[in-house]
Amino acid sequence: MRDKRISEDQKKNCQIAEGYLATYKTTTLGHFINGQQVDGQSGETFENTTPVDGSYLGQVSAGSPGDIHAAATAAQEAFPAWRDIKGSERRAILHNVADKIVERAEEIAFVECMDTGQPLRFMSKAAIRGSENYRYFADKAPEAKAGMSMPAEQHINYTVRQPIGPIGVITPWNTPFMLSTWKIAPALAAGCTVVHKPAEWSPLSAMLLAEIMTDAGVPEGVVNTVNGLGESAGKVLTEHPAIKAIAFVGESSTGSMIMKQGADTLKRVHFELGGKNPVIVFDDADLERALDAVVFMIYSLNGERCTSSSRVLIQDSIHDEFVGKLAARVAKLNIGHPLDPATEIGPLIHRRHFDKVTSYFEIAGEDGAEIQSGGAVADIYDGGNFVQPTLFTGANNQMRIAQEEIFGPVLTAIRFKGEAEALSLANDVRYGLAGYVWTSDVGRAHRLGRSLDAGMIWVNSENNRHLPAPFGGMKSSGIGRDGGDYSFEFYMETKNICIAMDEHKVPQLGV
Ligand code: NAD
Repeated sequence: MRDKRISEDQKKNCQIAEGYLATYKTTTLGHFINGQQVDGQSGETFENTTPVDGSYLGQVSAGSPGDIHAAATAAQEAFPAWRDIKGSERRAILHNVADKIVERAEEIAFVECMDTGQPLRFMSKAAIRGSENYRYFADKAPEAKAGMSMPAEQHINYTVRQPIGPIGVITPWNTPFMLSTWKIAPALAAGCTVVHKPAEWSPLSAMLLAEIMTDAGVPEGVVNTVNGLGESAGKVLTEHPAIKAIAFVGESSTGSMIMKQGADTLKRVHFELGGKNPVIVFDDADLERALDAVVFMIYSLNGERCTSSSRVLIQDSIHDEFVGKLAARVAKLNIGHPLDPATEIGPLIHRRHFDKVTSYFEIAGEDGAEIQSGGAVADIYDGGNFVQPTLFTGANNQMRIAQEEIFGPVLTAIRFKGEAEALSLANDVRYGLAGYVWTSDVGRAHRLGRSLDAGMIWVNSENNRHLPAPFGGMKSSGIGRDGGDYSFEFYMETKNICIAMDEHKVPQLGV
């Protein structure tokens, strides 16, 4: 470690984190099945290391088909009782979970920082956001079964919803705790039970969540966690006949595999996948606010964020001035240890992901773009996965740096002349998760809001999440929406009940 970079706060935080991490280093992290921690049946494990300097964080059980089967069976057996408890009871239990997340927020944040490399300034809020997900869906639990009334002439039709059954939740490594709560809280509020398979590169906080839920009164078997690799444990989960639906967050190519794997058992799927999201800056925008948002939306969370604005489309008339200011801000971003409160950019999750992100520094040059800032690894700690925040300019939309999801602190700037060109560039990618527009022209805001091919559009704002609003993507960015009642549409079956008024003529045969 380079001493000159260690602040007092960082030293203190590292000591606290050591305490939280000690048990993981000395015991194998197993699974959580039927209300208790268990060892993996096969005895196979994989090693977990921190992206800060590659040091050891412990061994993790590699889930086998037997482990998945045990978890899926537990979820299946726990389902009828959890489905049938009163909404008010479910609500109380889920509020308890939220309270206990808040109690352990520091531990969750510190463990997550060391496991993922995400800076504390973001992770401390992510744990709290996780608790808010439980609170929001706790309050919705009593109304989850509610339906619609559709009276006809001689019949009354009404709908009720019932939970679909045990759900397989498969999550990625970028903000693992928050994303897990985003799936598990609505599933539980709907009355479903869960088998969770966390990402193998960031397994630690999932076990904390399982523990917290059990302490809060979630009954045995309602939530189960199986660690392991995607191609083995994840695959078996998507194929298991007791699992009725898969809620997946991850890469588009993995979503496609899961759809194939789940075909034989006709799995319902909900996919939140990749993005190459445009932020369009017009010359009539509040450029200072736009600059803040552009920097935040690609360089926060190490750029490992599905809604990151990884392509900035800048109007010709302001292009050079805006790029100049952008480059100056990028150069000042603070790269460092995730537990230093001053750090804005931490190390990338894993050496394989680091290799992928850094490969684009060469690809940009081959394609003819310029590296305006960054474009190299950052020498912070030996063995760490640090890269310099990077800005590519002189790019066009056909280049790989404009089309492919890099998923790091790497931004591609492209110039445009007018609204029509901006729209065409924005839509000319395979993804359609989010789009951001900066303009003071209200008509244009509405026009682009309507014509951008993305599931979520923010005008004059960074990503701002409102829990009742739908979250999800179009095209290769996903299938389905999360949030509010949209989540229940996925986790529940809608049933129509049609009752006659005893007035209509029943057809008679064989009379
Ligand atoms: P990934 O697809 O590699 O892995 C995600 C999860 O899927 C992991 O738990 C992994 O073990 C599992 N998995 C892998 N292969 C599997 C298989 N064959 N069957 C079942 N499970 C399998 O994704 P990642 O690299 O962990 O995460 C980064 C990706 O996630 C990015 O593309 C990012 O855009 C996306 N993401 C999307 C959203 C969103 O809301 N749209 C949010 C966060 C991240």
